[in-house]
Amino acid sequence: MEQTVKRIGILTSGGDAPGMNAAVRAVVRTAISQGVECVGIRRGYHGLINGDFMPMNASSVSHIIHKGGTVLYTARSKEFTTEEGREKALGTCKLLGLDGIVAIGGDGTFRGALALSRQATAHGNDLQVVGIPATIDNDIGCSHYTIGFDTACNTAIECIDKLRDTMQSHERCSVVEVMGRHAGYLALDVGISVGATAVLIPERTFDFESDVVEPIRKARLAGVTHFMVVVAEGVGSAVDIARRIQEEIGIDPRVTVLGHIQRGGTPSSRDRETASRMGYAAVQSLVENRGNRVIATRDGSIVNLDMEEALAMTKPFTMDRYMVLEALSRH
Ligand code: ATP
Repeated sequence: MEQTVKRIGILTSGGDAPGMNAAVRAVVRTAISQGVECVGIRRGYHGLINGDFMPMNASSVSHIIHKGGTVLYTARSKEFTTEEGREKALGTCKLLGLDGIVAIGGDGTFRGALALSRQATAHGNDLQVVGIPATIDNDIGCSHYTIGFDTACNTAIECIDKLRDTMQSHERCSVVEVMGRHAGYLALDVGISVGATAVLIPERTFDFESDVVEPIRKARLAGVTHFMVVVAEGVGSAVDIARRIQEEIGIDPRVTVLGHIQRGGTPSSRDRETASRMGYAAVQSLVENRGNRVIATRDGSIVNLDMEEALAMTKPFTMDRYMVLEALSRH
């Protein structure tokens, strides 16, 4: 089969996630190995609209595999959601001679890529797009795993372990807010890993008495003198949860909001390896003329999905991890 893709653009978009650089490196190096040129688009779709680019070669991606953040920078662009904005972006693609785009980010990034490709097709042009899922929330429906999740879990666990040392010494209750506006994957995995007394997640409506007060009471009766409550940000303010604990149990919790620290840091082995495999698969897809695809994971394997179908997929939240937490914390 004749290879039609000759020059591709690569961009990172939406929230940054550790491992994005490893994916950028994999895309650039795989492209070079296949005789495809690579152009880095800085600041996501904002950069594509404004012609903010950098030519990339094998050495442009040297020494970045271990770095958090994204060397291409990332942004959100309202203008790109309009037809006029995408028209400007297509102008940049035409100017640079791009026939493919690898977009690393979340669902929004994939929707943008698909809209761009369709608009190009409507003009009789061919622009193949491939998405790579990267977000610390692990909340992309089509992929069991997203780049950045493992590192973010490890970062949160390391912070909470340090917090626990001081909480244990002072026999206190700690309420820790972790990221996750719509998804509790991070909170739940972190909660299990730090042995939390309770975890509150957006997928499950909680009852304050049975899900917070009672586990603390039971732990106290079992002789425990420090308590750890992990709250996903989508559930509400950790300060409010702490105030209610104070009102209902009479202990004075300390609140820690981990915030953006969870997005940073050296990517873990799992994130580097997943990003490298996904980056490789994304370029292979373009070389095989398979555009409008998302590279995802299913039970640890890398899969290549139709982008439209991928965007319609949901990842049903299962209670198995929550049951593990309950069994281990409510003694
Ligand atoms: P995160 O999970 O970190 O939020 P994301 O990729 O979902 O990542 P978004 O802000 O939703 O982040 O999307 C990134 C960018 O993609 C947006 O700023 C916008 O430019 C573009 N985009 C999102 N949705 C669409 C859409 N329906 N049509 C066109 N462009 C879109």
